[in-house]
Amino acid sequence: SYLFKDKRPSWFERTLVILKPDGLQRALSGEVLSRFEQRGLQLVAAKLIRPSAAHLKQHYWELRDKPFFTNLVTFMSSGPIIAMVWQGTDAVAIGRAIIGATDPMDALPGTIRGDLCITVGRNVVHGSDSVESAKHEIDLWFKPAELVMWERCCHDWVFESP
Ligand code: UDP
Repeated sequence: SYLFKDKRPSWFERTLVILKPDGLQRALSGEVLSRFEQRGLQLVAAKLIRPSAAHLKQHYWELRDKPFFTNLVTFMSSGPIIAMVWQGTDAVAIGRAIIGATDPMDALPGTIRGDLCITVGRNVVHGSDSVESAKHEIDLWFKPAELVMWERCCHDWVFESP
């Protein structure tokens, strides 16, 4: 079986990343996955799905009172997306750093949003913003059995034990 016991060190974090419909339509999936992979995070789950509006309302529930909420849910359910879980030391903060600021106008060059997009409502990718919300979001998007435990040969070349 390719499913190993979860030997993830306790200092590891996991983060939920979504390639949004604009990213998939613009053929940016390879580019986006590469950035997480090349930084050194480990992919432990991925699926191409078309999420329902109801599911997205749950995902973005904390933003329900924002004026952009309806447009956000409509946009996010307008086509397929790729939902992913990446893991590694400080995966949540590293993921946010790879992605860049929410508004691409504020996102630094070298980040996904700083390099690949223009406007806040078409900002290519989602990433969990805290360890707590990552846990909640991973549970919302993936069943436990969908997380694949695997030992990556470069583990010790990327991560140090604390
Ligand atoms: N968003 C928007 N208009 C805004 C702020 C946010 O359309 O003024 C969208 C944008 O796509 C963003 C998402 O709502 O990625 C979620 O907002 P959040 O503040 O959680 O930003 P994120 O965590 O994605 O950087």
